[in-house]
Amino acid sequence: MKKLLVASAALFSATAPAAPPLPPPEAKVADIARNVDAARMKATVEKLVSFGTRHTLSSQTDPKRGIGAAVRWAEAEMKKLGLETLQTCDTVTKLPRIPTPTKVCNAVAIQRGTERPDDVVIITGHIDSRVSDPMNATADAPGANDDGSGTAAVLEAARVLSKQKFPGTIIYAALSGEEQGLNGGKILADYAKAQGWNVIANLNNDIIGNSCGSDGVCNDKQVRIFSEGLRWQGGDELRAQVRSQGGENDSPSRNISRFLDSLAERIPDLGIDVMQIWRNDRFGRGGDHTEFLNAGFPAVRFSVAVENYNQQHQDLRNENGVEYGDTIDKMDFPYLARVTKLNVAALAWLASAPPPPEPTVEGAVSTDTTVKWPQVTTAKTYVVRWRRTDANHWQEAKVTGGPDECPLAQHSGGSMPTSSEWSLGPCQAVLKGIRVDDWVFGVSSVSKDGFESPVASAVPGGAFKPWVKPAEPAK
Ligand SMILES: [Zn+2]
Repeated sequence: MKKLLVASAALFSATAPAAPPLPPPEAKVADIARNVDAARMKATVEKLVSFGTRHTLSSQTDPKRGIGAAVRWAEAEMKKLGLETLQTCDTVTKLPRIPTPTKVCNAVAIQRGTERPDDVVIITGHIDSRVSDPMNATADAPGANDDGSGTAAVLEAARVLSKQKFPGTIIYAALSGEEQGLNGGKILADYAKAQGWNVIANLNNDIIGNSCGSDGVCNDKQVRIFSEGLRWQGGDELRAQVRSQGGENDSPSRNISRFLDSLAERIPDLGIDVMQIWRNDRFGRGGDHTEFLNAGFPAVRFSVAVENYNQQHQDLRNENGVEYGDTIDKMDFPYLARVTKLNVAALAWLASAPPPPEPTVEGAVSTDTTVKWPQVTTAKTYVVRWRRTDANHWQEAKVTGGPDECPLAQHSGGSMPTSSEWSLGPCQAVLKGIRVDDWVFGVSSVSKDGFESPVASAVPGGAFKPWVKPAEPAK
């Protein structure tokens, strides 16, 4: 969101010529993100292109050409960083694009959190590639931008972030089978479910390395973030609740989008502005984040501001003077590095912040609104935020978390409780004169060192955990 940035820059320049120093949490992640290296990322994309094709139906065993060699290489690169690595695989038959049983494997690395190892953020890109015919597994399919760029972001994020320690866990994954039907995304989302991971966000990067379209339109200042509005996972039951209580723009994925926009704005030296696109993906198109959403996990897609359709899914050829094909020479590596910096900053931030709370709101036929949420054990304070229903960003804020709002629960026994018998009671903030009908409410949690989580909206389906149908009231 550029407008606010320009306004605040003008404000600062009237009083002080130099940019003000960043607050400590922003400064910390900015320092980490600064290590992203465009030249290294170019070398990664060159290596990926050197596998000839990375088509999902290409050779699994050839040491130099095909998807098998590429996935093994990506895993080995992450292992070299000292990370715990594995391949998550499944044998897939999925018509029309995987007609016979085919092993589909993702290269995955895990950086376990020091305090909250089950709270997980996941960066993904897809390592498989294709040409014009989606079934052609033999022609050269460089897939430099789609999605060598996203895979390079995964590997560069792993390189930069593996030197640090975080309270939460970060997962790095190069996914396969995307072009044949989002297979790698589904395999990893299923794996996350089986592990019982509390997925705070999947940041999926797919086509993030070019800045000009075939019509000559260029934009190297912005990255698009795609997010679903009403979460798909709850189906008609959730839709009915949202119709009654609101929340059309308040899925956790939409709040991840708001978080990324705000983070890019607060750290100008990342050099990238977020263009929030409030839809799940490009018109009629898809990506691996959709499989995370289907599993109930918050997920967004990063993609370039301006796509070049001559350079995606194309046979390498020259037709009437127009060059077709997804080759390295069409990419913009300084731009790719800036998009990757935003990913790195966001991963570092999300792995440092506590998970968002799960708020609910009350206040029908009342002039006041009450927001309630169970305490998050790793949060020091909370921020209650609210905005008009048609505002894109949170507008009002109240910091809470003192003993009045977040008390220890009463001990129910007769004698004095021991300290281990005290538990954290629910928090409650009463907003006087604020009518629940006219606003959307949300709550974020803040760590002791100032990292604020994304906001979870107090709407049906607003919690970051997978939506579950509420139990029927007892009859
Ligand atoms: Zn792609």
